[in-house]
Amino acid sequence: MNTPAAPVFRFAPSPNGELHLGHAYSALLNARLAQARAGRLLLRIEDIDITRCTPQFEAGIYRDLAWLGIEWELPVRRQSEHLAEYEALLQKLIDAELVYPAFMSRGEIRAHIAEVEATGRPWPRDPDGAPLYPAADKTLSGAKRRRRIEDGAAFAWRLDTQAALARLEAPLFWNEFSDETLLDTRAIEARPQDWGDVVIARREIPTSYHLSVVADDALQGVTHVVRGRDLYAATGMQRLLQSLLGLPAPGYFHHRLILGADGRKLSKSENASGLAELRRAGVSPAEVRRMVGL
Ligand code: GLU
Repeated sequence: MNTPAAPVFRFAPSPNGELHLGHAYSALLNARLAQARAGRLLLRIEDIDITRCTPQFEAGIYRDLAWLGIEWELPVRRQSEHLAEYEALLQKLIDAELVYPAFMSRGEIRAHIAEVEATGRPWPRDPDGAPLYPAADKTLSGAKRRRRIEDGAAFAWRLDTQAALARLEAPLFWNEFSDETLLDTRAIEARPQDWGDVVIARREIPTSYHLSVVADDALQGVTHVVRGRDLYAATGMQRLLQSLLGLPAPGYFHHRLILGADGRKLSKSENASGLAELRRAGVSPAEVRRMVGL
């Protein structure tokens, strides 16, 4: 009889700031769940945003996690070293005519939305509160698109979410574990339409958050994605990409968030809850565990 493969967990921070108590909770929870199931824990550095990620923040991640007593497998996957793999998946979506070049600049998008809102019509927003991308570029003819690209116009590849949904044979669901025991799951209906036409790849980098996350979770054989509630709705979009690209879908558990004293989500710029700052102040890893309720 074959023994079942060990479950694979991952912690996937972006080195665009210092880790805080929220990251500590997520990393410690992943480590604990992996250990309890004789599973593997992977660390993935999500460093595709070259304007905000730095080697210093990356070094800080290793230092903070080691201080917390977390052990992860080597080598660590750094997304910036795998752009060709993401580009191959982007090409699949281009070939399937599921992405289109989106030319509007931030300023143009803002102006377009302000114009519509001035007429009293509210503009739709995504679950994070950002306005959806206007549909205008989708109606450009192939010839016009080619001409603009040849003229050197800047563009990002965006998913034609409506077209993608139209190709599905049935509604999409993902499996969400009910609690930290990871014993039961519920099927949650994916609502990628809530995000509109998301960016799949940017001009300066042939990928995006959603594309590289689904690519890596599949390539690394991740079976359990344990991450914060703030990414719950994003799972619907990621489930759609998995389906379009023929990638396996892991199970998900979106854990509670650690909130600041003001009841709001912690941010990377808040020093008080930064792990390096707590360490400097003499707080021990055991105290950090207590602070996050583990
Ligand atoms: N890199 C993302 C972040 O730091 C997390 C991605 C994920 O867990 O799917 O927020």
